[in-house]
Amino acid sequence: MTRAVVVGGGPNGLAAAALLATSGLKVTLLEAADEVGGGTRSREAILPGLLHDHCSAIHPMAVTSPALASLDLGRYGLRWRLPDVDCVHPLDDGTAGVLVRSVDRTAELLGTDGARWKTLLGPSVARWDELSRDVMGPLLAIPSHPLLLARFGLPTLLPATVLARSFRTEQARALWAGVAAHSFRPLTAPLSSAIGLGILTAGHAAGWAVAEGGSRSIARALEKALLDHGGVVATGVRVTSARQLPPADVTLFDLDPGQVAAILSDRLPARTRRAYTRFRRGAGAYKIDLAVEGGVPWTNGYARRAGTVHLGGTMAEVVRAAREVHAGRVPERPFVLVGQQYLADPSRSVGDVHPVWAYAHVPHGYDGDLTHAVLAQLERFAPGTRERIVGLETTTPAQFADANPNFAGGDILTGAKTIPQLVLGARPALDPYSTGAPGVFLCSAATPPGPGAHGMCGAGAAASALRHLGITPRWYGAPAT
Ligand SMILES: Cc1cc2nc3c(=O)[nH]c(=O)nc-3n(C[C@H](O)[C@H](O)[C@H](O)COP(=O)(O)OP(=O)(O)OC[C@H]3O[C@@H](n4cnc5c(N)ncnc54)[C@H](O)[C@@H]3O)c2cc1C
Repeated sequence: MTRAVVVGGGPNGLAAAALLATSGLKVTLLEAADEVGGGTRSREAILPGLLHDHCSAIHPMAVTSPALASLDLGRYGLRWRLPDVDCVHPLDDGTAGVLVRSVDRTAELLGTDGARWKTLLGPSVARWDELSRDVMGPLLAIPSHPLLLARFGLPTLLPATVLARSFRTEQARALWAGVAAHSFRPLTAPLSSAIGLGILTAGHAAGWAVAEGGSRSIARALEKALLDHGGVVATGVRVTSARQLPPADVTLFDLDPGQVAAILSDRLPARTRRAYTRFRRGAGAYKIDLAVEGGVPWTNGYARRAGTVHLGGTMAEVVRAAREVHAGRVPERPFVLVGQQYLADPSRSVGDVHPVWAYAHVPHGYDGDLTHAVLAQLERFAPGTRERIVGLETTTPAQFADANPNFAGGDILTGAKTIPQLVLGARPALDPYSTGAPGVFLCSAATPPGPGAHGMCGAGAAASALRHLGITPRWYGAPAT
């Protein structure tokens, strides 16, 4: 029987392993932690029963992921839940940019900028089902829908600040800047619109969904799919040397390129080793989980119903904060992303105490204490929050890295989204998943289409591995390269 080994059980490693297993391979997955999941784990961090997502929380790209859809994860217990309002970006005057699933309703809420929002996003949203197979695969592949991809792709080339010029109101500009800031890049850089446009398009198509029972439900469903197809999972196994790897026909690494270079050393072609060693890491995250009695008392009414709230003030302030972080400085008012997953999934709360998830963008490796600055941003848009907090836990960049080396320096995207790394992944090659060593592939978020709990990097690498074995990948949306 043809054997595969997958090192690392994040959503990409798990998706790769499950897809290889459904294709008839005997798959063994090795995971360093005590449980699989990587960036899709959840735990009772503060109070018994109060469930916090450790990393990923909101999943517009996962809901529409062809890889996850083809594994039929509903059979293995995954249920998506949608908040009333997807995302809110409050301003100091109490107004806000408000994003809901419907493009038309969002346009209404954006007033004079509504028509421009619709023109920008409407056509791609209407055909996201077809478009997603191109957007969520290797960008150098031959697209299945070239015209559609070109229409979507042209605005992604722009700096987010240039694209923002099409909006007149501060609400629309700030809403756009907050979503674009997910790239952790200066918003004046070319291609800094790409990640934001991807999130917005997928979000309008399917919603900013959370997984019922915490993001760990995504990992658990993937693990069940793998086991159901004869896979084996070994936890507590940290791979540091090629000698630990069981013999296999194909080996896939759900790891950052630096680790793969260290593990495989001279088994990798010299040019791959060089590229992986030089792989650039991105800015970091400083996270605060809160237990909040009665929820956050937002001034803006839509924010009280939103799964995600972006705290960054005006677009100019968001742009400034991103520039500061890129320059290695902590902004006085950091950009903070707040998750209120419990609004869509009330099973995470305990009575009237609710889990609130928040993280700020900080420089790579930041080792200070940002708790007060994050709480100040919450108080700014929700006065009285502090009095409602009954428990708090912080996760620093160093703690993210300790839990998972893929997040070195707090870089939760597994690599800076510079133009070459966003387009090509970890090294310039036609197949971004191939390491250049026969039968050895990279499948982590360092490869296209990049970060998120969508499993599409894993699916791309699994497709490459199968082609290496002379097998045609059969799942829906398998990349064409
Ligand atoms: C605070 C935070 C918030 C986020 N928010 C979101 C969000 O809302 N939505 C979203 O879609 N994404 C979000 N993400 C990003 C998302 O979690 C990642 O992009 C995703 O988990 C990457 O998946 P992966 O499979 O590539 O790798 P990972 O999830 O990093 O998994 C890698 C796995 O490999 C294991 N491993 C590492 N080294 C070794 C080794 N040497 N040997 C064996 N095993 C090893 C790790 O323990 C881990 O389980 C967030 C991440 C963080 C940290």
